[in-house]
Amino acid sequence: DSELPLVARRIRSFPDFPVPGVLFRDISPVLKDPDSFRASISLLANHLKKAHGGRIDYIAGKWSVRVPPGPRTLPGAARVCHEGAVSGVLYPGQDGFGGLLGDPPDAPTVLGVVTVDPLPHPDFAAELGLGCILIRKRGKLPGPTVCASYALEYGKAELEIQRDALEPGQKVVVVDDLLATGGTMRAACELLGQLQAHVLECVSLVELTSLKGREKLGAVPFFSLLQYE
Ligand code: IMP
Repeated sequence: DSELPLVARRIRSFPDFPVPGVLFRDISPVLKDPDSFRASISLLANHLKKAHGGRIDYIAGKWSVRVPPGPRTLPGAARVCHEGAVSGVLYPGQDGFGGLLGDPPDAPTVLGVVTVDPLPHPDFAAELGLGCILIRKRGKLPGPTVCASYALEYGKAELEIQRDALEPGQKVVVVDDLLATGGTMRAACELLGQLQAHVLECVSLVELTSLKGREKLGAVPFFSLLQYE
């Protein structure tokens, strides 16, 4: 596909991050470059359209905030500042995370939106005309929730979903930026299973094939745009 190289050339590799022995694939440059970001959204969305047509009820994934391409005015931008300790809106004159969470200036011209979990699932959903279901780290979602804990490639984590996020039998596709050991994706599927939702497919931008994450997903189909060993 002619759009795939647009995405592939923006993925950087960092050896020994975050711990020795891990080769970290950094997708930040994909999100930073509007053409590459758009290409990744449209490639994944096209796959989902072809594979499932109009059968999908919702897209589910870890919470993300879109990175807007270039300077823009975003009404109500201050609301986005609530996303975690190092997430928020980057205003002119601010540099790095230091200036992220302060009061918005009078004229809210926004340079970009920064997020801890760079997963563009709301954009897939918009592209497909669907809504999003948020899966978040434990403790972030209000109201009754269900929780699943899982082992990461490095460390351990817990994910949560609101109990009323889905009706039994609704069909969802789970999206994440990257599949490594598959623990995160499997935990997401477990949460959706607790709500008796039907996971049609899991998809990610990048798959680290040598970690065999897709095997953890059992019978749930998996699709990735780019594969690395
Ligand atoms: P898994 O649970 O081992 O499959 O890890 C996948 C999760 O960890 C995803 O949500 C990723 O954001 C993150 N992750 C693990 N390894 C990498 C990497 O090399 N680059 C970027 N994210 C990673």
